[in-house]
Amino acid sequence: MNDDKTGKTKLGPQTRVTHAGRRGEWTGVEGHPSAVVNPPIWRASTHLYPNTKALKEGPKNNCDGRFFYGRRGSPTQWALCDALTGLEPGAAGTMLYPSGVAALTGAFLTVLRPGDVLLMSDHAYEPTRALGQTLLKDFGVETRFFDPLETSALDEAFCERTRAVLLESPGSLTMEMQDIPAACRLAKARGVVTIMDNTWAGPLGFTAHEHGIDISVMSLTKHVGGHSDLMMGSVSATEEWYAPLRRMAQLTGQVVSPDDASLALRGLRTMAMRLERSAATALAIAEWLEERPEVTRVFCPMLPDSPGHHIWKRDFTGACGLMGFAFRGGTAEARNAFIDALTLFGIGYSWGGFESLVTPADPGSIRTVTLWPPMDMAHTDQFAVRLAVGLEDAADLIADLDQAMAAWRAASE
Ligand SMILES: *Cc1c(COP(=O)(O)O)cnc(C)c1O
Repeated sequence: MNDDKTGKTKLGPQTRVTHAGRRGEWTGVEGHPSAVVNPPIWRASTHLYPNTKALKEGPKNNCDGRFFYGRRGSPTQWALCDALTGLEPGAAGTMLYPSGVAALTGAFLTVLRPGDVLLMSDHAYEPTRALGQTLLKDFGVETRFFDPLETSALDEAFCERTRAVLLESPGSLTMEMQDIPAACRLAKARGVVTIMDNTWAGPLGFTAHEHGIDISVMSLTKHVGGHSDLMMGSVSATEEWYAPLRRMAQLTGQVVSPDDASLALRGLRTMAMRLERSAATALAIAEWLEERPEVTRVFCPMLPDSPGHHIWKRDFTGACGLMGFAFRGGTAEARNAFIDALTLFGIGYSWGGFESLVTPADPGSIRTVTLWPPMDMAHTDQFAVRLAVGLEDAADLIADLDQAMAAWRAASE
């Protein structure tokens, strides 16, 4: 379905999200295609047939964009799938799920079977780790973690039973960059499937399939929704994996509401400019934090002297507002006093919305094979903060961070 004009990556990112998925048949009626700008919200469980013969033939037409029954979606959801596929070069199609975690589950269930080994980046998103350690374990799949910063660690982790690798770049909380093309080359040579959580950059910032990924997962709750008012996930796959992905999603009854699909489409239309704005502000904040005596390290791959910057520069065409930093020493109480003193950053999970958010981050608590803080940081520099930078003015956010530093210093004395 990657045949609309948005598949041409030479168009600019904001042009591509403006036009993605706007097929005339989703936004018009017979005789008047493209009658309106946005696809109407088709609220439907039942799809009707003209006669029993057509009803009987309904299930045989199991392809996207054919009416059958509400669980397989209607034009509102199909338009969103179409748009996401169009933005992801190399994708044969996209499935939707009620959350990012449900999307990860859909990808795992498509690929993994009892007896398989899943290799997972040690800096993966915590709920992804939990899936490996509980559900997959109960179904006879073994999850083994590897150091995402050492390509040799992945090479050494492969065994006869390795079926898939879960990659994430940059990693949750600490924003380390992984060499995705190198990991994909290793996996491909052994017939191992690559699944990537591409939520941070999304397809505008990192073209997962073009860099070798078989199955690309995104939490649409973040940048695509963009307004902190919906939960959704998506998985796109190459030709080889799209049919099994779709079969598993249908078997397990994965469907999103047309109202939410419509909100996601609305968010998508401004995604490129929101990402550009929040990434630029995040970089300005990162540069400001780097100069602060209270800060020992800033987690932001756009910073020229950050550890994985060369990988980001080589492989990525964009970024977002999610970043973090670690305090130089101090205590958990001082870190929390800093967070509590912020007035423009809401305290709460998630990111990718128009508004800035902050949470404490304790990466050490969710590592298996890698150290936190790493060897090149002092062991006392363990108290970190995650910032989800929104669309506010950079100067206002920096002033807010500045006044909260005073609270950290007071609590540290
Ligand atoms: C938020 C997030 C998810 C999960 O998405 P939900 O929509 O909240 O289920 C997955 N991966 C990453 C990296 C995330 O930040």
